[in-house]
Amino acid sequence: MIAVGYCRFSSENQADGFSIEAQKNAIKEFCKKEGHQILRFYVDEAKTGTTTEGRTSFLEMLDDSKKKQFELVIVHKLDRFARSRIDSAISKQVLKENGVKVISVLEHLDDSPESIILESVLEGMNEYYSQNLSRETKKGQRVAVAKGRVLGTVPYGYTTDQDKKPVIVPEEASVVKTIFNQFADGIQLATIARLLKERGIKTRAGNDFSLCSITIIIKNPFYTGDYKFGDNIYPNFCEPIIDRELFNECQTRFKPRIRHKDKGSLYLLTGILFHSCGQAMTGYKSYKKGKVYQYYRCRNKEPNGFIKKDIAEKTIVDCLLTFLSEEKILKDLSEALSKKIKQTSQSKDAAQLKKQINDLKEQGSKLLDLYLSGTIDKALYTAKKTTIDNSIKLYSNQLSACLNAIKFTPSALKMAFDYYKFKIKNSLLESNSIQAIITTFVKKVVLFDDRFEITFQFKDMSVAYRRDNALPYLKI
Ligand SMILES: [Zn+2]
Repeated sequence: MIAVGYCRFSSENQADGFSIEAQKNAIKEFCKKEGHQILRFYVDEAKTGTTTEGRTSFLEMLDDSKKKQFELVIVHKLDRFARSRIDSAISKQVLKENGVKVISVLEHLDDSPESIILESVLEGMNEYYSQNLSRETKKGQRVAVAKGRVLGTVPYGYTTDQDKKPVIVPEEASVVKTIFNQFADGIQLATIARLLKERGIKTRAGNDFSLCSITIIIKNPFYTGDYKFGDNIYPNFCEPIIDRELFNECQTRFKPRIRHKDKGSLYLLTGILFHSCGQAMTGYKSYKKGKVYQYYRCRNKEPNGFIKKDIAEKTIVDCLLTFLSEEKILKDLSEALSKKIKQTSQSKDAAQLKKQINDLKEQGSKLLDLYLSGTIDKALYTAKKTTIDNSIKLYSNQLSACLNAIKFTPSALKMAFDYYKFKIKNSLLESNSIQAIITTFVKKVVLFDDRFEITFQFKDMSVAYRRDNALPYLKI
């Protein structure tokens, strides 16, 4: 893939010995090994003796990503990429929109649970905002829907006419049909994605179809003509692309796929699961008649000190997601995250962006003086002015992303977690991402004969859940 390198050298990290040169070499070596081609390097170097860190090249790199000339940004270590996790999540979101991924030579991006939760929250919230489902407009929207008008965007396969009524796009509809038919025939999602790629078929945004985008298509009842809006379903809303029989058949095919066959290797609860006797419970495999059974077992090996791996994990993930959808938790979490955002916005980065914008504005007014006094001609003035204006625009966008673009309201968080839930339910999330979300929020799980007791990392809250159906039945 085509990559660019990003290196940053800050005086505070001088001690770790990774000079710009060392970072560059590590990145080059990594690319050679992985077969990536380096287009160029972006380098930010803090001037000795100053405390402010230049981020000019970083912002330039973000801006250049829009030109779609590269697909990867490679850093030596993630702390080179951004100063804070929020900053990192925001920047990654910008890159993601341009189809660019960030890769670290030394670590996996998914290694930081907070970055994952933030990324998923941002991703979920983007979905939320793009759907524009604010409470105030909902009513008006319902009226529109009742009149056969679609709100927001229509799914792939459709477009809208001037009255916002959905109309089938024949070429796209045939792709949709292929996806449904192949899936019903037992073809794996990954294979469907590959086949589409081979045919050069792209999503509306111009990207390759991913497992996620294909799943979203297969799960969307819109293709049968039903429009799901909020909690309501409007049957026979539009002309169907898929008949209900095929649609339903595809939905049943999802169920047996919920657990991946090789998902078992990672014990998600290692380190946080304990038995009521106080001992840690660890992963354990048993082989019976050529089949593998996976458990967590108490170190004391007591007769009741074990539980099936998948049952324990599914229960804990379900409990966690239930916990995260509680109104009180959402409210507290939204306050905590907003506070964090506020701290970031008052950080050096925001201050520096503000300074850069002011400097540019000053340059602009000096330029105007030069032009008015006849020192420079109009062509030069216009050219320089355009450059300055573009930079101001870029920095201002960055600043607004830093300051106020992201509001962690409880309802936005709820949408984000719902999105996460959707991904987990449909096996669209890697095991290590699920593990990261568990370790972000769950401090400890204790298995009793009749219940789990989960202590969340969030303000030290603990809740007991019934072991059989995982309903919370006792608040501690
Ligand atoms: Zn025990």
